Amino acid sequence: MRFSEFGLTTLKEVPAEAEIVSHKLMLRAGLIRRLASGLFTWMPLGLRVLRKVEAVVREEMDRAGALELLMPAVQPAELWQKTGRWDQYGPLLLRMHDRHQREFCFGPTHEEVITDVASRELRSYKQLPVNYYQIQTKFRDEIRPRFGVMRSREFIMKDAYSFDIDHDGLEASYQKMHAAYTAIFERLGLGFRVVWADSGEIGGSKSQEFHVIADSGEDAIAYCDGSDFASNIETAPTFPAAGERPDPTRDFEKIATPGVRTIADLCQRLDIEPAQTVKTLIVEGDDGPVALVIRGDHELNAVKSQKLPGVASPLVMADDRTIREATGRAAGSLGPVGLELPVYIDHAVGHLADFSCGANEEGFHYTGVNFGRDLPEPETVDIRNVIAGDPAPDGKGVLSIARGIEVGHIFQLGTKYSEAMGATVQDQDGKDRVMEMGCYGIGITRIVGAAIEQNHDDNGIIWPAPLAPFDVVLVPINMHRSDTVREAAEALYTELTAAGLEVLFDDRDVRPGVKFADAELIGIPHRLVVSERGLAAGELEYRHRRDEESRDLKREEALNVLKESTIS
Ligand code: ATP
Ligand code: MG
Repeated sequence: MRFSEFGLTTLKEVPAEAEIVSHKLMLRAGLIRRLASGLFTWMPLGLRVLRKVEAVVREEMDRAGALELLMPAVQPAELWQKTGRWDQYGPLLLRMHDRHQREFCFGPTHEEVITDVASRELRSYKQLPVNYYQIQTKFRDEIRPRFGVMRSREFIMKDAYSFDIDHDGLEASYQKMHAAYTAIFERLGLGFRVVWADSGEIGGSKSQEFHVIADSGEDAIAYCDGSDFASNIETAPTFPAAGERPDPTRDFEKIATPGVRTIADLCQRLDIEPAQTVKTLIVEGDDGPVALVIRGDHELNAVKSQKLPGVASPLVMADDRTIREATGRAAGSLGPVGLELPVYIDHAVGHLADFSCGANEEGFHYTGVNFGRDLPEPETVDIRNVIAGDPAPDGKGVLSIARGIEVGHIFQLGTKYSEAMGATVQDQDGKDRVMEMGCYGIGITRIVGAAIEQNHDDNGIIWPAPLAPFDVVLVPINMHRSDTVREAAEALYTELTAAGLEVLFDDRDVRPGVKFADAELIGIPHRLVVSERGLAAGELEYRHRRDEESRDLKREEALNVLKESTIS
């Protein structure tokens, strides 16, 4: 590709709307352009990268025996009503009407449609297992679209759905996808981790996410250095502390704490650590509000909490009015002693002695609070996020926390959708059996952003070779004034292209500095510079995007470096 014919516009300025580096670089390098909130155009350069991601995903899905199809993006409401998700999915679902006032949505995912397809196509156990997949545009009306293509409203997903006669079959199909995903992210050259996850909206039982590890990741991942245990913090379990709870040493006291609103205020006022306090959070419940009590230095875990009996799912914090109506008190003054609400106490709180908490009276706190004396012995539950240093569930060490970007998610759905939609096949005995389903997503567009988060420097993107929009950038110096350079550059362009390399030939009449800066910004792995001085010595200047310095190589040597780099 000749740069002069490629219509690429790079930007020097960092666009104001971009918060994280991948978003900034994608805009600056001209990979994407914004249309509206969460909507982006993939420009020619960006589309080349996207197609590479798709190609790797497609190859590995095909290799795993999955069958590609393409479902409509627009889906009739009736299908979603059958599974109950029309009402459950909420404002994430973009709903619309056709001219006959029939209701539709723009698909955020395709369980309903594929189950409908499967229920018509699959009749006998002999047709199983089947795994159908597609690569297609989805729409989710995200509450906070941000980070460019990483959390957009319209995005491209690879979604696959497996159908099996029984649970063993599902397990085998799931493991096949686990292996295919591992191969995909390895081939793409990304540093990733597979973590246990919550099945969320989609439902079902077993589920794992594939995360690209990056500081800007929206998800926290807990992992154990001593084993291969890793989990999204959403589901990483905590346990009752080992050993006996310390005995009480202090008297139960009520003290005046005017103006104290937060745990930090309280600690300052009493000169204690947050770990010696508890906070009482009020959430909505099926029959009125419910109190959740965690240690002052811990964070509430919404995913775990919303699974408790009586607690509303998804978790909603009760507002001040509801709290006042239910308790007669303000939120900031609450504590578990004498609180007339259903109360859940976290495991870590159950291990505290002599702690401090709100006294259910504005401007007062209790100190020296002890279970078994000032409060009944608690039955504790797991409602907090794990923190670094917590024991791993496999007992093989302690947890560390890293940040990750979810690029893939695999689920065992079981019969949730097949049951609701009557997707059955005849088994060996001629009886109808509801098929066991799995579903498997990859965020194709999100991968591009995630790859940049992991691979960049101050000057721009550093594409892992399999994702690079071009393999080589060919930079002639003063081509418009030197026939020698022009002829040599044209010959190299022809030769490299013929060797199967994707070459960006920077034939623009601009200063070399501009060409170098653009080449670095757009992150092409190999750079070849053709100059009169080099040609006179039979040499080309070569530099890999990751190298500190360029090297002068004999022409043949340089070509060999490039040709070898494409043999993978
Ligand atoms: P998240 O937790 O990030 O909102 P999710 O768990 O809702 O994602 P899934 O339903 O598992 O997403 O969808 C499969 C994949 O699609 C995700 O692993 C992710 O890579 C991608 N994806 C989901 N939502 C978006 C989005 N808003 N923008 C870009 N990619 C997305
Ligand atoms: Mg997910």
